[in-house]
Amino acid sequence: MELQSVFIYSDEFAQYEYSPTHPFKPIRAKLTYELCRRYNLLDRPWIKIIQPEPLRLNQLTVFHDEEYIRTLAIASLGGLTPEMMEYGLNPGEHPGLVVGPEILRFGLGTEENPIFIGMYDYAALTAGATYLGAELLATGEADIAFNPLGGFHHAAHDHAEGFCYINDVAVAICHLLKRGLKIAFIDIDAHHSNGVQDAFYEEDRVLTISIHESGKTLYPWSGFENEIGKGKGRGFNVNIPLAADSDDEVYVHAFKETVPPLVKAFDPALIIAELGADTHVSDPLTHLSMTNNGFCDTVKVIKSLSPRILAVGGGGYDLYKTARSWTLAWSILNELEPKDDFLGTVGGMMFGPELDVGSLKDKTHYSTGAVKEKTWGEAERVVNYIKKVVFPIHGIR
Ligand SMILES: [Zn+2]
Repeated sequence: MELQSVFIYSDEFAQYEYSPTHPFKPIRAKLTYELCRRYNLLDRPWIKIIQPEPLRLNQLTVFHDEEYIRTLAIASLGGLTPEMMEYGLNPGEHPGLVVGPEILRFGLGTEENPIFIGMYDYAALTAGATYLGAELLATGEADIAFNPLGGFHHAAHDHAEGFCYINDVAVAICHLLKRGLKIAFIDIDAHHSNGVQDAFYEEDRVLTISIHESGKTLYPWSGFENEIGKGKGRGFNVNIPLAADSDDEVYVHAFKETVPPLVKAFDPALIIAELGADTHVSDPLTHLSMTNNGFCDTVKVIKSLSPRILAVGGGGYDLYKTARSWTLAWSILNELEPKDDFLGTVGGMMFGPELDVGSLKDKTHYSTGAVKEKTWGEAERVVNYIKKVVFPIHGIR
């Protein structure tokens, strides 16, 4: 059967902004969409572009605490929509909620998770986009789906964290579990996927794998190799922390040694992949030394592990590098070769501060000497731990 693929996109994605100085820029989704267009990666008979709908309150509370979601909605609007009236919400019942210090309990109104008009609609729309992708895969209507504005892996059950208000991944997985499906979640964002880890820490129907910069040097300061799940979930939560300055070679080695055997043994119905592009050496918030070559090699491995993949965006604070990484990821998932149709045309578009027009790939870059030795040694130590402690739980020799 022919591949069916869906790019989930709405122009509305680009309308939201946390604040002018906030590093998380939803407009990256639009940049990615436009770059995919320019490289002729959307106009194929098997590819559909579908607009998402926001999830409703009762679809979000399969994972999230109802009081948190209500607070998010009220703080976002300072008023009520007809839908919220349906749920019996009244701002009079919550005096001071919008501006009072109580919202801090929910992680709202901080520098990282500011309150901005429409933040609830924004978060519900991004969750709707990931949910749509999950549904299309679960029903067999699509094999590949991509939501560039998803992957809010830090949001917790009852509070916002790390630029994430609603955990679209956890919400989608909760819905998939109701369908009786086993899910592998692979997170290649530079940050540990603490929100998804916490959501399914005692669950053996979800294999959660996060490869990231070590919590010794990066928020959320967690995600160590010995956090492997609890109870029946023991062995179903895998962390691959890497030292700061790890390069493509170290990263891809650690990933290949651990992830394919685990996913094959688990045998999921589908993979959800969080493709945060903030592992890039140019990312202003993180300290890994990767290029998009290592990113692409990793996405290729993920692609080889399942015929059904839902990819979601995630972090990425060098906007143009992020759009390039995701355009490359989309091409890999669809087995397409990116080709710049505008190359060489007079007055052809320039894309951001792009010098090497015509190719999306970075020049390769590998670290050497003491840095290489240290980062490689640390990766080896973690790989060996996972092989020794986690592999036997899955019967992997
Ligand atoms: Zn990140």
